[in-house]
Amino acid sequence: MWNDRKVGILGGGQLGRMLVESCNRLNIQANVLDAENSPAKQISFHDGHVTGSFKEREAVRQLAKSCDVMTAEIEHVDTYALEEVASEVQVEPSWQAIRTIQNKFNQKEHLRQYGIPMADHRELVKNTQEELAEIGEQLGYPMMLKSKTMAYDGRGNFRVNSKADIPEALEALKDRPLYAEKWAYFKMELAVMVIKTKDEVLSYPTVETVQEDSICKLVYAPARNVSNKINEEAQALARKAVAAFEGKGAFGVEMFLLEDDSLMLCEIASRIHNSGHYTIEGCALSQFDSHIRAILDLPIPAKSLEIRQPSIMLNIIGGSAPDTHLKAAEAALSIPNAAIHLYSKGAAKPGRKMGHITVTAATMHEAETMIQPLIDVVDNIRA
Ligand code: ATP
Ligand code: MG
Ligand code: MG
Repeated sequence: MWNDRKVGILGGGQLGRMLVESCNRLNIQANVLDAENSPAKQISFHDGHVTGSFKEREAVRQLAKSCDVMTAEIEHVDTYALEEVASEVQVEPSWQAIRTIQNKFNQKEHLRQYGIPMADHRELVKNTQEELAEIGEQLGYPMMLKSKTMAYDGRGNFRVNSKADIPEALEALKDRPLYAEKWAYFKMELAVMVIKTKDEVLSYPTVETVQEDSICKLVYAPARNVSNKINEEAQALARKAVAAFEGKGAFGVEMFLLEDDSLMLCEIASRIHNSGHYTIEGCALSQFDSHIRAILDLPIPAKSLEIRQPSIMLNIIGGSAPDTHLKAAEAALSIPNAAIHLYSKGAAKPGRKMGHITVTAATMHEAETMIQPLIDVVDNIRA
């Protein structure tokens, strides 16, 4: 039957959990590889899960034996393990795509061949002060020093304002492979969720993302005060960038909108993405639904990716106390049209994503008015 192939998911965090929610509604079995009782496993009772880490080769082999199609909720997986099992199980997107994308420098070198606009950047090979000072001369200040690998939520970025910051920057990112990027003077950050199917590259509309301390805080769908032309151009750029990779599934594309209305790619994630959570309430098919359909070659009507109502997503990030995220969720209980998603990760740590809330309304203005009290609560938690 169309739904009897088993999906294996590397990683059982919130993204894996929301993938499982989509699988559950279609009676598709999702086998999750992660620690016992991880958020995704908590909502999926069967004996197909694997205990271990997506970084352990043996655990990946075991998951491969239990499923027909394997996918990942995170790009920081062991792609050599994926390469090894690719002969016995379908891996989506391809291990080659994940391997290239998980190294942000390699990702950019690859995309350069496809003419994707990006901030000018330079690789560090020695990680010395002299080397970075020379790069600073070329790129100018400020510049962003970035870890090529294992980067997320800005952990891996260091803003270098002047030559004087160089020792501190290299200390903050020591022992990591590095590159430096020219500063992007953007007026807005945009994102597009792209769905790559067996024969098409589809996109959701362009959204606006707001980062605080380099962590995504808010997503406005569609992007506010952005013309149809820019909305279309951003989607086209995102589809072109994703088309440069092999394999099926959802890809999150982050972009900068510059002062002159031109677009620049920030980075690609080879997976479902925080900027696409609004699709659960905002669209007929969520990014998680679409990802599962794409990897199983099930139909995805393009119409189902349109935004039905303006939506705003607010992340609930861990604060100073272990339960502050519950206060934010409690406040949302009384807000009309607010959908609450808690990830069941246990006690919060500062900066950890604990849940999110999506408000939908007939107009963006109405959604903004409804969500403002929640933004105030979240700001107080973080303060
Ligand atoms: P994610 O959690 O999205 O994977 P990440 O750790 O991979 O984040 P980036 O997406 O590269 O990091 O950068 C995080 C944020 O830092 C961006 O959303 C943007 O706000 C800022 N930023 C990154 N690169 C630049 C740049 N070249 N110029 C200015 N700001 C930048
Ligand atoms: Mg990233
Ligand atoms: Mg990013």
